[in-house]
Amino acid sequence: MNLDLAQARADTPGVNHVAHLNNAGASLAPKPVIDAMVGHLRLESEIGSYEAAERAQEAIERGRAAVGALLNCDSQEVALFDSASRAWTAALASVPLRAGDRVLISPMEYGSCYLSLLHLAKRHGVRLEVLPVDADGLVSVEELRGRLDERVKLIAMTHVPTHDGLVYPLALIGQVARQNGIPFLADACQSVGQMPIDVEEIGCDMLVGCGRKYLRGPRGTGFLFARREFAEQLTPAMFGLDGVEWTAGTYRFAPAARRFDTWEANCAARIGLGVAIDYALAWGVEHTWPRIRRLAADLRAEFTRIPGVTVLDRGQERCGTVAITVRGWDAASVRAELQRAGINTWVCLENAACVDMQMRGLNSLLRVSVHYYNSSEELARLCSVLESLTLGRPVRVAVSDGISMDQAAEAGQHGAHAGVGRQHGG
Ligand SMILES: *Cc1c(COP(=O)(O)O)cnc(C)c1O
Repeated sequence: MNLDLAQARADTPGVNHVAHLNNAGASLAPKPVIDAMVGHLRLESEIGSYEAAERAQEAIERGRAAVGALLNCDSQEVALFDSASRAWTAALASVPLRAGDRVLISPMEYGSCYLSLLHLAKRHGVRLEVLPVDADGLVSVEELRGRLDERVKLIAMTHVPTHDGLVYPLALIGQVARQNGIPFLADACQSVGQMPIDVEEIGCDMLVGCGRKYLRGPRGTGFLFARREFAEQLTPAMFGLDGVEWTAGTYRFAPAARRFDTWEANCAARIGLGVAIDYALAWGVEHTWPRIRRLAADLRAEFTRIPGVTVLDRGQERCGTVAITVRGWDAASVRAELQRAGINTWVCLENAACVDMQMRGLNSLLRVSVHYYNSSEELARLCSVLESLTLGRPVRVAVSDGISMDQAAEAGQHGAHAGVGRQHGG
């Protein structure tokens, strides 16, 4: 693996402030993204926002083409949104579903997506069916085949869940969906930017992704891929001036996925998305992915050596997300201790992926998610804090490049009261 880590870190100002292991939430942006966005905000303030948009038109439009390049689709098959949940719900709402129609999903669906489906079931009598999974957390293709009939009108499946390192072999699902002519909506929020994604290979009709997660783009960006022939049969539930063509007193929907577009957008964020994707493409997702996988595998191996830390991830193929619990500690307190030591992680509560979390009796877990720009030293620091916590020792923080003396002193001081925030002894 020849990834130039020093370069990746030099491009990422955030690594000088924090060991950022919350990439599944939002990654640290690289400098080109930050500069492009700040530059555009400044331009808007100086010459007016519409005028700035005219001047930056190419950069604003680049986002769409960049998503196309990333996913191996045409830019007309891409609609841009202000969040992936919105993209997902817009996709769902455009699929004609009637009472008695069946929708098949995995238990790993993202909370807000699952809730929209529940709502659809309640309001319109659509039948929502959660497919059973095996010990690896995977849906069996045989099981899926066995459930198909003419009332199945949608299959919705998450590539990588928000709360687990599991990677779904989506292409197997796509094959079944294609063979049977059933619309297939894939949620690639966690996988896009993390691992190579090819919508042709997956065989999905629609796929959503976020900008802020592994793509390292800005917050408030999401996108929808909708395959041309499929998209042209869809009627968006809501649309704006960019999604329709108005001619001589009548209107028709814009081609392919463009019909989902609304006119208004955060232009700085759109520009940032394009720059982030171009930045990812310049590294090559196929080159950064093996490093993410290896760092996460190293971390899981390290965790098995810390008594009291339990790794919850399943799956034969796993990615940069590592889900753990720490004996004697609730996830929120562990996260707080880590944050004091200059390490960012995140807590997934039950509502993050409600079906799976409930099925497994989990009401919270600590999510540690690595990116290619993370260093082994950062992972070692994380392990050392977790080890101290499980042993009831004060948390000691090594003074390194990443942490100022003050922060270290503060964290060390807090470590003297390591009992604070503990759920119970041990
Ligand atoms: C983050 C996430 C979403 C939602 O993305 P937003 O941009 O926050 O709406 C959907 N699905 C999965 C698996 C996610 O991780």
